[in-house]
Amino acid sequence: MRDELIKRICADNASMFTGPGTNTYLIGIEDITLVDPGPLQESRLDNVVAQCGDKLKRVLVTHTHKDHSPGAAYLQQRYSLPVYGQKVKEDDGLQDKTFNPVKELVHGDLVETDEYVIEVIHTPGHASNHLCFLIKEANCILTGDHIMNGSTVVIAPPDGDMSAYLESLHLLKNYEFDTIGPGHGDFMDQPLQVIDWIVNHRLEREKKVLSKMELHGPGSIKDLLPLVYDDVDQRLFPLAQRSLEAHLLKLEKDHQAKRSEDIWHIT
Ligand SMILES: [Zn+2]
Repeated sequence: MRDELIKRICADNASMFTGPGTNTYLIGIEDITLVDPGPLQESRLDNVVAQCGDKLKRVLVTHTHKDHSPGAAYLQQRYSLPVYGQKVKEDDGLQDKTFNPVKELVHGDLVETDEYVIEVIHTPGHASNHLCFLIKEANCILTGDHIMNGSTVVIAPPDGDMSAYLESLHLLKNYEFDTIGPGHGDFMDQPLQVIDWIVNHRLEREKKVLSKMELHGPGSIKDLLPLVYDDVDQRLFPLAQRSLEAHLLKLEKDHQAKRSEDIWHIT
C-alpha cells in the first residue's frame, strides 16, 4: 500500500549536512498532497507539479529549515497551492522566513481526503515547529528531520531542544506505523528499533558528556567538544558543538550539570 500511495523524490541538494538531499513526498493518486518541497529550485518544482497535473491539491511542510520549506512560497505564488505547516518560531539564522502558511497546523489536526487521512503530530526537538505526518492507510509516518536515514539529527539550541527531542521520539511510539519516510535518505522499516536506537544513542552521548566532565574536570563547550566527540569527523565539529550545548542544557534542566559563566561542571 505504501508504494502505491507514497512516492519519494530526492531534491538536488546533496551535501555533508543533507545526505543524498532533501526528500519531497507525494501522497495520493487522484488527490495529491506534497510534503516538503525542499529548497527553492524552480525547474525541479515545476517538474514535480507537471508530474501531478491538477491532482496536486496542497503542500505540507515538516519544519522551516532552509533545506525543507523554501519551495513552498514558490508553489503558493506560482501555482496558487495552499501551504500548511507552522510558522518560524525562533529566528536563529537557519529558518526560511518566506514560509507563510494559509493555516497553521497543530498537533492532532487531520488532513482528510477521499483516499487517505494525514494526522499531524507535533514533534519539537530538532526544531520547535517540527511536525510529523502519519498516513494510516499506508502505515507510514513522514518524519522530516525528526528521524533521518544515515545520520543523526542536529539539535541546535535555542530552537532545538534535546529534552523535547527525546520526548518527541517517545511520543511516536503511541502511534501505529511500519515504515518511516525520513526527510533525508530512503524509507526505513522496523520503526520501533529505529526509535530505540536513536534514544539510546542520545543517552549514551549524554553519559559520555558526564563521564568526560567527571574525568577531566569542569570545562567550556570548546574544551569538552573534542573529548565528547572523539569518535566524530572534525569537519562535523561545528554541528557537534550545537548538539553538545543541547546535551548540556538538558543536563542542566535535569539537575545533573551546572555552569558558571561558560564553564560547565557536574553537580
Ligand atoms: Zn531541519
